[in-house]
Amino acid sequence: MAYDFDLFVIGAGSGGIATARRAAQYGAKVAVAEFDRLGGTCVNRGCVPKKLMVYASHFASHVQEAAGYGWTFEPGNFDWGHMIKAVNDEVTRLNAIYQRMIDNAEVALYKGHARIVDFHTIGVADQTVTAEKILIAVGGKPSRPNIPGIDLAITSDEIFSLAQQPKRMVIFGGGYIGCEFACVLNALGTDVTQIIRRDKILRGFDEDIRTEVQDAMLRHGIRIVNDELVSLEKHKDGLQVNLKNNNMVLTDVVGLSALGRTPRLENLGLENTRVDVEKGAIVVDAHSQTAESNIYAVGDCTDRINLTPVAINEGRTFADTHYGGKRRVMGHENVPSAVFTTPEVATVGMTEIQAIEKYGEAGIKVYRSRFRPMYYTLPKLEEKTLMKLIVHVQTDKILGAHMVGDSAAEIIQGIAIAVKMGATKANFDATVGIHPSSAEEFVTMR
Ligand code: NDP
Repeated sequence: MAYDFDLFVIGAGSGGIATARRAAQYGAKVAVAEFDRLGGTCVNRGCVPKKLMVYASHFASHVQEAAGYGWTFEPGNFDWGHMIKAVNDEVTRLNAIYQRMIDNAEVALYKGHARIVDFHTIGVADQTVTAEKILIAVGGKPSRPNIPGIDLAITSDEIFSLAQQPKRMVIFGGGYIGCEFACVLNALGTDVTQIIRRDKILRGFDEDIRTEVQDAMLRHGIRIVNDELVSLEKHKDGLQVNLKNNNMVLTDVVGLSALGRTPRLENLGLENTRVDVEKGAIVVDAHSQTAESNIYAVGDCTDRINLTPVAINEGRTFADTHYGGKRRVMGHENVPSAVFTTPEVATVGMTEIQAIEKYGEAGIKVYRSRFRPMYYTLPKLEEKTLMKLIVHVQTDKILGAHMVGDSAAEIIQGIAIAVKMGATKANFDATVGIHPSSAEEFVTMR
């Protein structure tokens, strides 16, 4: 049977666009459906605008640090409206680039919500089209716990369009989003209280890393409270945050809920297929194939590792396999990631606890280095960098590399190549450092 398309992609985010372009480059006839702006969460409401705001947030401390080097500046002003406009203009520029990329690849774009009618048929924008294969790449959306008044809290989606900088902000959640926004807003001058339900932020990261970054955030003035949110209500002076164990907190009209993300599967027509959904996410095998053999899914809607480069890699692996004659499986081990807090966190491989669980305490060796980077010596600031390597005793392989400090993401990206290749501690020791740098510590740890 002839279909309208070889491949129909639902969702023009990072995973969907990468897959559509790669498949089209191999000669497949491809369409993509999107009801929102092109680029998905990463470009419109996530990584890109967030990182621009992280850059904006660093200038106040740079000015302070500059004094140690002999520079003096008049006290400056920060214009929130200027930053929000500049960030959104950049996002709009990127949307246009995505449109050009789709056009250049000759991928057909359907603007509207796509719904699967049967396993080869999709309804979108009042049309019905058929495809040999369907790839679902619909991403996720912020979770909202069922708590009275939660609608009074904004999510990370809305932070990028806030007309005014909040004077006070309560942030719920100690994960990536909560921590990143706590640091950004704090450095821009907002009074930030972060409410977490455990003793420490960033569950799942190495314990030393969690402690180091949390201590730094506290030192920088963020109030971190261990508690649970009971309800939110309006108050004459803003928003009243009712907590289980502490007194209520008053904040501006704004609270930010950053309590994880959920796959966006509503009204996709999955009930018309054999696609399995478990814990709200599409179930796929190592080839991103669902239980319906011609339907595949990549990215956050599968809730494997919810990171843009993972979605892109899953999608390109699918396209290479089905349209490029290069059958391959994407490895989900040793995926590096970063949290753009201040100081930055970056990591690849196992935490110390994970390594002990697998190999026992005697089976691993841990190397740590904690120091004040040279940059902070003249400003006489107590900012610290922490680096950590976890080594498998039997094979000498690096099981994990972790860092808190300036440029952690840039440094760990390079280290991740070595870890992915199976580098040993002896390989690290044999590598000559670049001096003076912080990164050289990774090859000089004893
Ligand atoms: P995370 O899963 O990272 O963190 C969620 C936080 O909310 C945790 O601290 C969790 O606590 C807490 N939480 C969840 N439910 C409740 C509840 N009912 N009451 C109180 N606390 C609760 O989610 P985020 O929203 O921060 O980020 C979503 C995903 O987006 C991340 O996992 C990541 O994959 C991706 N992301 C990546 C970024 C990057 O690469 N730099 C940046 C931003 C997002 P607990 O730990 O106790 O469960």
